[in-house]
Amino acid sequence: MTLNINKIREEFPVLHQEVNGNPLIYFDNAATTQKPKAVLEALSAYYLKDNSNIHRGVHTLGDRATRAFEKTRGLLKSFINSREEEEIIFTKGTTEGINLVASSFGKKYINEGDEIIISTLEHHSNIVPWQILCEQKGATLKIIPINDKGEILMEEFESMLTDKTKMVSVVHASNALGTINPVKDIIQKAHSIGAKVLVDAAQSAAHLDIDVQSLDCDFLSFSAHKIYGPTGLGVLYGKRELLEAMPPYQGGGEMIKEVTFEKTTYNEIPFKFEAGTPNIADVIAFQKALEFVDDLGKENIRAHEESLLQYATEKLNAIKGFIPVGTAEKKVSVISFLINGMHPFDVGMMLDAAGIAVRTGHHCTQPLMHRFKLEGTVRASFSVYNTKEEIDRLIESVSKIAKIKNK
Ligand code: PMP
Repeated sequence: MTLNINKIREEFPVLHQEVNGNPLIYFDNAATTQKPKAVLEALSAYYLKDNSNIHRGVHTLGDRATRAFEKTRGLLKSFINSREEEEIIFTKGTTEGINLVASSFGKKYINEGDEIIISTLEHHSNIVPWQILCEQKGATLKIIPINDKGEILMEEFESMLTDKTKMVSVVHASNALGTINPVKDIIQKAHSIGAKVLVDAAQSAAHLDIDVQSLDCDFLSFSAHKIYGPTGLGVLYGKRELLEAMPPYQGGGEMIKEVTFEKTTYNEIPFKFEAGTPNIADVIAFQKALEFVDDLGKENIRAHEESLLQYATEKLNAIKGFIPVGTAEKKVSVISFLINGMHPFDVGMMLDAAGIAVRTGHHCTQPLMHRFKLEGTVRASFSVYNTKEEIDRLIESVSKIAKIKNK
């Protein structure tokens, strides 16, 4: 099905504004996507009509809010095809999901001398929690190298797997370069030596099909705000047997069965990992984002984004002084680049002056930037509501900027 992009754009009020005297072109979707009206309306409808704490009250509003909240968990079960709703834990975001696993799984299962493997492509949120854990436990962090296109070297990965490897944590799609990693293959290889695998799906959940049963990943973490949903909300999937065996991450209300001053017993999953009043309004509004994706169809969204990516890649590559960074065979709709002789920040400022929002800098992937001997790049990332005309304006602006130093 070909999507009607103009109709889709009507659902996103924020897109219809001028920035620095030009119509806004929002190409910072890898940082966060914009939110459709349905999400914004669900947020205010909740506060206007249903606001109430959940899982505890006997009153009607509490019951309504609880049912709406748990409905999102049900939708997420379908969104990632988990076996059970109980395997879905609400978090603050991808970062918290990874920290939860590093802290809780790590406390129980990582010991001195053990090894944890991540890749060169990781976001800081999939590096630092493992470094903290390794420091606490005397474990070792090993890094899968990449080639100059920004692709994981699978043979190197295989040779790193030993009986000491307890966890492999890898990004599904790189936020900085767009590279799509062969996660299914990585998971199979890690499992063959008994290691568990966490997939950072922050950048893939909005674009690629996620089927946790087919992937057979042990954990998968992503953020609502990169899939047209609200900020401050994330999802951690974990296999039931692992979540049940792991100790709590935080203590407080909701996560307990019974508390005495002598001893506390813990609630069942998922509640064991959801201490305190959760982000009720955003969880409820997230339904509308999931329905938005479902109604359009991920394969249609992907087809549109891929056509933008191909068109932009071809045209930008033809500009004198344009230097692509990350040229993997399989990519999500992210283009990272430099302009010869110019600082990425200056390029970003000039694009902003033309109304084009891009990200510049290290993209929270400093070790990856070091691998390319760079401080940072300019990154344009596309979403379903972007158009070919917008890409043409990017090309025009990049051409003008490149000419300054590349006559
Ligand atoms: N991993 C990747 C690949 C990301 O792109 C991001 C967000 N830029 C994160 C993790 C962290 O997500 P959040 O800030 O929503 O927790």
